[in-house]
Amino acid sequence: TTDASHAALPAGVTDFLNRPVHHFIDGVDVASLSNDSFATFNPSDGTPLAEVALGSTVEVDQAVAAARRALDGPWSRMSESQRSKILWRVAELIDSRADEFAILEALDSGKPATYARAVDIPLAVDWFQYFAGWPTKLEGTTIPVSAVATPGNYFAYTVREPIGVVAAVIAWNFPLMLAAWKLAPALAAGNTVILKPAEQTPLTATLLGELMREAGVPEGVVNIVHGYGHDVGAALAAHPGVDKISFTGSTEVGKSIITAASGNLKKVTLELGGKSPNVIFADADLDAAIAGAANAIFFNQGEACEAGSRLFVERAVYERVVDGVAAVAGQLTVGDSLAPDSQIGPLVSQRQLERVLGYLDSGHTEGATTVTGGRRKGDVGYFVEPTVLTDVTPTMKVVTDEIFGPVVTVTPFDDGDDLLRAANDTSYGLAAAVWTRDLTKAHNVAAGFKAGTVWINSYHVLDPALPFGGYKQSGWGREHGAAVFDAYTETKTVILDRG
Ligand code: NAD
Repeated sequence: TTDASHAALPAGVTDFLNRPVHHFIDGVDVASLSNDSFATFNPSDGTPLAEVALGSTVEVDQAVAAARRALDGPWSRMSESQRSKILWRVAELIDSRADEFAILEALDSGKPATYARAVDIPLAVDWFQYFAGWPTKLEGTTIPVSAVATPGNYFAYTVREPIGVVAAVIAWNFPLMLAAWKLAPALAAGNTVILKPAEQTPLTATLLGELMREAGVPEGVVNIVHGYGHDVGAALAAHPGVDKISFTGSTEVGKSIITAASGNLKKVTLELGGKSPNVIFADADLDAAIAGAANAIFFNQGEACEAGSRLFVERAVYERVVDGVAAVAGQLTVGDSLAPDSQIGPLVSQRQLERVLGYLDSGHTEGATTVTGGRRKGDVGYFVEPTVLTDVTPTMKVVTDEIFGPVVTVTPFDDGDDLLRAANDTSYGLAAAVWTRDLTKAHNVAAGFKAGTVWINSYHVLDPALPFGGYKQSGWGREHGAAVFDAYTETKTVILDRG
């Protein structure tokens, strides 16, 4: 590109960008049979970054066949301890290339490179390290049996087996991290995987595929097919050779995944959208709460499924919090994802830009007040000013819909109001947060939230050991921690008549 800041890219990154981005099938980089490709763009300036192989059902079939062969082959014969070491090695290799990963992620998705280097890449490493410990610990149970209809002397136990071939379809907001969220637990449990990265952000997954091979992941155990959701994603969701689909993306597409998966009743887990409430009581540490509320919505340009996009503030401190969050918004540096001082990068694409600007228009038309922001920034790249909206009502689209951009609505509440009813008045249920110094109040509100994760005096705290997922239309199932193995294993019950 012509941007001066790109001239100083590390050699590893320029080398990577000068090669065509291929699928990774059966341990080999391959172009599409059709030779078709599509471009991925740098959202900081709209310029093309790389040409990416455009997959179709042909590549999906190849990848599924490779994953099935690997499942019955070397992967199933490998000891748990060997699998564990390979996953740890993947983590080490990601860590050793962390700078390259961070820059590729920033170029492809728009997030600031400094944030990718501090958050996305270390978390991906941590996810592989945490799950590297699990293969040797996936235990079954022994269970006392009475069996009143068939009395006897029985011994019964359970074992946890891999489900089989897993398809993982992911979103573009945390490309490498979401790939790690799928691959690490699925592989720890002994499954094989076909990953379809988001078409907006195919780069870091491709580099990850190369490292998987280097780490000793046998051929066919991990396959990556690039392409669009409506063909590659949909083909995976419908494929009779896929035993399980693990999806991260929009609620709308999540529903279509369920329908497509019904053909062979493949197992389904879904991590979908959110419109998370963030509640500040007057007795909170307000400096921390204001900084936390700004971080809750503006981190990653607001392109976070768990973003705190509906802020509720007790009336006594309402003005102070609105002013405080607006002041943070006004001070955030919006700029090129590679600029070292950028705190807010561009949105991922022209389409996402238009979507967010459409919501800002609708908020304006429906009578919301824009306290700060509210507009596109500049006319090159897909930048939107961090925005605070007040005077909103529960039926406005800016309050009901997931905007997936740096836009927060703020609503005051009074003691005695049905705060939880307002906070839970959404079809989503991914996350929620509460800020207060009163422990009893904090736990009562936490108990009342209809959400899969609740933060108290904190936000965006994620850890591979902590279950994460959605109530209501935010999804099915839980990722991370011990809980994720419900999604990636079958439980087999074995009963022996001891005679
Ligand atoms: P999206 O649903 O449009 O796309 C997500 C993925 O699904 C992409 O890989 C896409 O190619 C694929 N896809 C699209 N149509 C498909 C189809 N018909 N069949 C199969 N696959 C298809 O979502 P998006 O706009 O890219 O991502 C943003 C959404 O993801 C937001 O709603 C966000 O909240 C959600 N998200 C959720 C989590 C979570 O953990 N809950 C994490 C990140 C993002």
